[in-house]
Amino acid sequence: MLHRTLLPLLLVSGLMPTAQAARRGTPPPEPDIVAAELLGRALQSDEAYEELEQLCDTIGHRLSGSPQLDLATAWAAAKLAEDGLVVTKEPVMVPSWTRGPASLSMVHPLNANLRLLALGGSISTPADGIEADVLVVSTFQELTERGAEAKGKIVVFNAPFTTYGETVGYRYAGAREASRVGAVASLVRSISPSSLDTPHTGTQAYADDIAPIPTAAITLEDAERLHRLQRRGVTPRLRLNLSASQGEDVLSHNVVGELKGRELPEEIVVLGCHLDSWDVGQGAQDDGAGCVTVMEAVAQLAALPVAPRRTVRVVLYTNEENGLAGGRAYAEAHADEHIVAAVEDDTGSGQPLGFRAEIRKAKAAPDEGMERDEAATEAFIASLTPYLPWFAPTGAVDLSVGGSGADVGPLVAQGAVGFGLSHDMSNYWPIHHTDADTFDKVDPVLVKRNVATMTVFAWILAEVAPLSGAAK
Ligand SMILES: [Zn+2]
Repeated sequence: MLHRTLLPLLLVSGLMPTAQAARRGTPPPEPDIVAAELLGRALQSDEAYEELEQLCDTIGHRLSGSPQLDLATAWAAAKLAEDGLVVTKEPVMVPSWTRGPASLSMVHPLNANLRLLALGGSISTPADGIEADVLVVSTFQELTERGAEAKGKIVVFNAPFTTYGETVGYRYAGAREASRVGAVASLVRSISPSSLDTPHTGTQAYADDIAPIPTAAITLEDAERLHRLQRRGVTPRLRLNLSASQGEDVLSHNVVGELKGRELPEEIVVLGCHLDSWDVGQGAQDDGAGCVTVMEAVAQLAALPVAPRRTVRVVLYTNEENGLAGGRAYAEAHADEHIVAAVEDDTGSGQPLGFRAEIRKAKAAPDEGMERDEAATEAFIASLTPYLPWFAPTGAVDLSVGGSGADVGPLVAQGAVGFGLSHDMSNYWPIHHTDADTFDKVDPVLVKRNVATMTVFAWILAEVAPLSGAAK
């Protein structure tokens, strides 16, 4: 990812390293000229796309606890070192859950095989499986109302997709709510607005006070079919065989690459992504694409003859998908540092639209946690508005209030200004957490635009943004 050819370009443009510039009596580089050079360079580079191909095709998916995640960690550390960054691997203990064989079939009113993917952390069925009648519900409210009907059944949550944040609750809490009313297993309609008969896995959480039951995602098509049968007065009957194993927590690492700031090295800008993925597909868009984007952005900055004023750190988090241990461990280990901004890239590799921004504050009542400080966030956004025209060539010109990202959330709670790179996600949700999240779905032109957007944004945060007083 080194761009040694950038140096002559910058020299031609009159952008000299600070020391040389001082010696020759010329002023340091103008930030807008550097931004334009960075952007032009990134829009030409295939580095990130080629790295994503390597990650996907030679390592593949990377669930916490898997040997592939360790391979990816070593791969990323070596890449960042090649780009001249100071690399550290910070230890984090992560869960180790392993998917085994699973099958689901309808035995009434007809015999049919249904596709499924166990949800992360699911327990197994007994060895000979579970055969039971089905109760389909659309909402938790309906489950409560029909609780008496659920006992001994397989509950199917057929909640149509509204937003990810809203609908994912059925995947996350479906098993425990179904168990609460006596169900023997739960199935959730995959969390996606559309489907080509593809189940989507994801994390779920049992409750300490309720017996765990086996749980899996089924396709939108099958959830609708089961619901149609029930509405017609037919009670479908299913047979579920599912195996999975939960091992002891194992050692993993956050991979960190640092470019020291030239004037304000103690002020740190974090660029984050997660290197782990679900154990299906290749983890190409979730979140391999985000990782190669932030890796290439910091490599572009490292190749500048003049380092940015603030320190820039790329953090490739472990265990975002089924635990968030990496994000929590990083914030805890670095709580005493002055991390002024934390940017996350974890919504695929579609057309970049701009950035969501958030500053959080403690709620008025003690011990009630944090909430978004809308006024402070709006004011900070206004301070960055003059720089938005720099992004015109990528189309990523929007800056608005919104959530930053799961991995950087703990840093934002500690006072960093949080950002999330926003994308057009219309091609993301249908493949998210599925066997179809593979490299061939990634558009090389859009990867370049994403890298250009992230590089210029990182430059703004590290060089000119009024961050020193904005956080902490
Ligand atoms: Zn992700």
